[in-house]
Amino acid sequence: MKVDVAAISDTGRVREINEDSFLIDKELFVFAVADGMGGHAAGEIASATAIETIRASTAAGIDIARSIEKAHESVKKKSAQTESLSGMGTTLTAMGFSAKKKIVIAHVGDSRAYLFKRNIDGASTLERITKDHSLVEELVDAGQITEEEANVHPRRSVITRALGIDGDVEVDEVPIDFKIGSRFLICSDGLSSMVRDEDIADILNSNPLPSDAARELVARANKAGGNDNITVVVIDVTDEEIIFPDSIKVAQSVPADEKKQRVHDKSGRFVFVVQILLVILFLGAILGGAFFVAKNYATKGYFLDEKNGEVVLMKGRYGGVLWWDPTLDSQSGIEVKKMTSADKVLVERNARFETRSVAVKRLDEIRKRQKEKEVTTETTTTTTTTIPDGQTDIILSPATAATND
Ligand code: MN
Repeated sequence: MKVDVAAISDTGRVREINEDSFLIDKELFVFAVADGMGGHAAGEIASATAIETIRASTAAGIDIARSIEKAHESVKKKSAQTESLSGMGTTLTAMGFSAKKKIVIAHVGDSRAYLFKRNIDGASTLERITKDHSLVEELVDAGQITEEEANVHPRRSVITRALGIDGDVEVDEVPIDFKIGSRFLICSDGLSSMVRDEDIADILNSNPLPSDAARELVARANKAGGNDNITVVVIDVTDEEIIFPDSIKVAQSVPADEKKQRVHDKSGRFVFVVQILLVILFLGAILGGAFFVAKNYATKGYFLDEKNGEVVLMKGRYGGVLWWDPTLDSQSGIEVKKMTSADKVLVERNARFETRSVAVKRLDEIRKRQKEKEVTTETTTTTTTTIPDGQTDIILSPATAATND
């Protein structure tokens, strides 16, 4: 039991949003299309809810028809809980396993399943498996209108059965011939109402790859107007041996399901996570950048300060910036009280230097001036000793005044 599968869901050319959903899961062996309806985004929620329930139910080993009944209950429940979702519904057409472990097509609504076969003589046949649960189909059955009239009937989109509507739902189940070379198509009415069965057959016949066939079918529906959302699932049987998925396989299929779910979500959820990560990285880069700019500003350069009467060289900004306080670079050994008054002003005003070498050079100059002052003072002192008492002040004053600028 192996298949090649391709699926495309397209918004079409008229609708704003895509209310169709689909599911392809080779492990669980379930392939489904749901066409939601309801005001605002309700149809989208109805179809997605139904698909999600189908997946969970089949993963729990429940047959496809019973899974569709469960989907009906889920949509009904959700619709009853939220007022804006009231009245929403969805079609559901799926290939999966019956309770008797046979591969079947089960469905509710007007999403269709077709079987396409290519014969040995080159001729091909397209057979519709499902019967639309629609008003026009009932009219055709009753002989009131023809198939051709049904295709253009103004009320052709009115369906007579849907999931999520009050009461119970009746699910149709059709056994299928699962043979190598058979190609199955499950689609929403966005394809079948826009492209005639003969043209669908033509496209399925001329595109050997399911992916090409799916792309061409969607393109043709859009070319015809794309009035509705278009969803197609093309399934080629490549191995007809039927093996019911066992519980171990089902359990293993959970991570694969998550991957499929991303496809089903049209990558929305995955992209969203990536976007959040990018925003975090971006903000991190900005904050990181700002941090280093601030840190660089706060810790750059040197300034003079006084500590315990001594001149010290500090690194950083006077008073600090944010949580970066200036740090002691070195002690100069210069006593403030012995400095010239001009140099004292440098310390009082916390003179700044961009580089350490400039600061050290300036400190050397200050030290030199201080030494000169000391020498002058000593000389003067020596002089005073030689001057008789009583005249000391008179002689000292001019000498002191000279060294003090
Ligand atoms: Mn539709």
